Amino acid sequence: MWFKKKVEAKPEEKLKLPTGLWVKCDTCGEILYRKELEKNLWICTKCNFHFRINCRNYISLLLDDAALDEQDKDLEALDPLGFQDYKKKLRDDQEKTGLKEGVVYGFATIGGIGVVFAAMDFRFRGGSMGSVIGEKIARAIRAAREKKIPLIILSTSGGARMQEGIFSLMQMAKTSAELALLAQDKVPYISILTNPTLAGVMASYGSLGDIIIAEPGAELGFTGSRVIQQTIGEKLPEGFQRSEFLLEHGMVDLVVSRKDLRNTLIKILTIISKRG
Ligand SMILES: [Zn+2]
Repeated sequence: MWFKKKVEAKPEEKLKLPTGLWVKCDTCGEILYRKELEKNLWICTKCNFHFRINCRNYISLLLDDAALDEQDKDLEALDPLGFQDYKKKLRDDQEKTGLKEGVVYGFATIGGIGVVFAAMDFRFRGGSMGSVIGEKIARAIRAAREKKIPLIILSTSGGARMQEGIFSLMQMAKTSAELALLAQDKVPYISILTNPTLAGVMASYGSLGDIIIAEPGAELGFTGSRVIQQTIGEKLPEGFQRSEFLLEHGMVDLVVSRKDLRNTLIKILTIISKRG
């Protein structure tokens, strides 16, 4: 890597979901009442900033009856490089999140239409993609292909997982190849990008959707803008790499508020299913 490590915030620093009665908005600085914020789906009532929520929140928000028939729930990472503290970090995140890894996937319905749904979780190692996330995403794609039902992947990720080295990078090729087969069979894939979706995930399945939806204000790109700015020593344009910027530049099809996400999916799925 060309970039010095110190500029990367540790996932756990970014992750502290506020627990107090009052929460300060990261973007506008407004002090918000937690209960109000929860009711508003963790969207700032003043500036529309979308706070990060977890994969279980998205399951409740998007799927019929908040129900996911989860597959490969217990798939766990190995430590192929014997990377210092990796096993302990995995255990810590498993305890913290109740998840075995940073993605869940399975079968669900949205507006009565059957889909394969996968959602990543930033709390687990910053959503970094290692062998298990790659494998589960690949299996989700295969399941959609076998059943010929739409695939929806909701991404959030800091990139590839460094503790698994080349095994992490391999997942980019693997998931992209599986998506090529899915496209060949004309099974639709909707990619939902949430804040942030970066590097290895953005450069593989994140940006390969037939339809790409982004939550407002999400940072989407190959490298975080802070790192780019520090590297090139120049100020970046206003809103650089945010959802709206990517929409203007044709990299994203829709920017949709979290409040409208389920209805938007139902509309798209209805159109797709009518085409048969
Ligand atoms: Zn705000």
